[in-house]
Amino acid sequence: MTTAILSAAVASWGLEPVVANDGAQAWEMLQAPGTCDLVIVDWMMPGIDGIELCQRIRRTPSLAATYVLLLTGRSSRADLVAGLDAGADDYMVKPIDPEELRARVQVGVRVATLQRRLAEQVAELASARDHLARIASTDALTELYSRRGWFELAATEFSRSRRYGRAVSLLLIDLDYFKRVNDTFGHDAGDRLLQTFAAMLRVECRQSDVVGRIGGEEFAILLPETSIHAAQRLAERICIASRGLKLATAAGEIACTTSIGIGELGGEDFTIDDVMRRADAALYEAKRGGRDQWRRALTDLSEVADHVAAQSRGSKNL
Ligand code: GH3
Ligand code: MG
Ligand code: MG
Repeated sequence: MTTAILSAAVASWGLEPVVANDGAQAWEMLQAPGTCDLVIVDWMMPGIDGIELCQRIRRTPSLAATYVLLLTGRSSRADLVAGLDAGADDYMVKPIDPEELRARVQVGVRVATLQRRLAEQVAELASARDHLARIASTDALTELYSRRGWFELAATEFSRSRRYGRAVSLLLIDLDYFKRVNDTFGHDAGDRLLQTFAAMLRVECRQSDVVGRIGGEEFAILLPETSIHAAQRLAERICIASRGLKLATAAGEIACTTSIGIGELGGEDFTIDDVMRRADAALYEAKRGGRDQWRRALTDLSEVADHVAAQSRGSKNL
């Protein structure tokens, strides 16, 4: 059966054949996406033979749904096994009976169509899953990481830093007297202030910093490759920038200040929660110290002694 006769037969069954004159040409045509669902291939071809073409198709993920029907003059059991092993879906021995070929092609088209639909559904599901994951890890109001997204990323970054002995610090940030903002200006104005505050954090932070809204008016920033001293400088900048934030509303201008607790990865920390706990205690100290300030977590006893001495001298940020 020549390619011309085969092609005419395929067309007469209502399909749209494309003809390649040898294996190399067939392989080139298959590179274009969606060229065909079903390939009828002769075992014996110059250059790339039918077996080689089958193997190449099976190694190519984008051709996973392509159905391959192998035609051959060889009828031994070993040849049949070799053909199927190479990745052919079906196998016909010459001389080819046109009616049998039609029936087998129909089976192939049915299988290929089902495979394609399945692949499309898998792709749709994967994209829906990615979309959901993005929604779950993003805070809708501020477009920063959500609590869940922040903790996932921060935990990964934390264990990487721990493994390689790199510095990592974190800031816990809480807006001061935020309840009063809601009470005085309304919840919507409160929301706008949170958005403005988040935008300011984005400006102050580096691309590699992980910035999240982890509670109503609580934010957290994980700072990879950052010493506690650099973290203190950032905390200072955020305190200053917060004082400068002014939000105009019909009921007047809203101003805000912020309190920050700073923690740093220490040798005895096993999880991010250990550093979070210390940063949270420092944040509490900042609130207790009168708000509108940052405090760093103390890691050892000599620091505690320094801290007490500095406190008695009346320093605001420690
Ligand atoms: P402090 O200085 O001690 O932090 O005082 P505060 O008023 O900020 O703290 P408190 O925890 O008493 O109140 C936080 C307020 O934040 C209460 C809650 O109504 C408000 N809040 C939480 N989430 C949101 C939100 O998504 N939008 C708005 N507008 N307000 C929120
Ligand atoms: Mg709070
Ligand atoms: Mg607060």
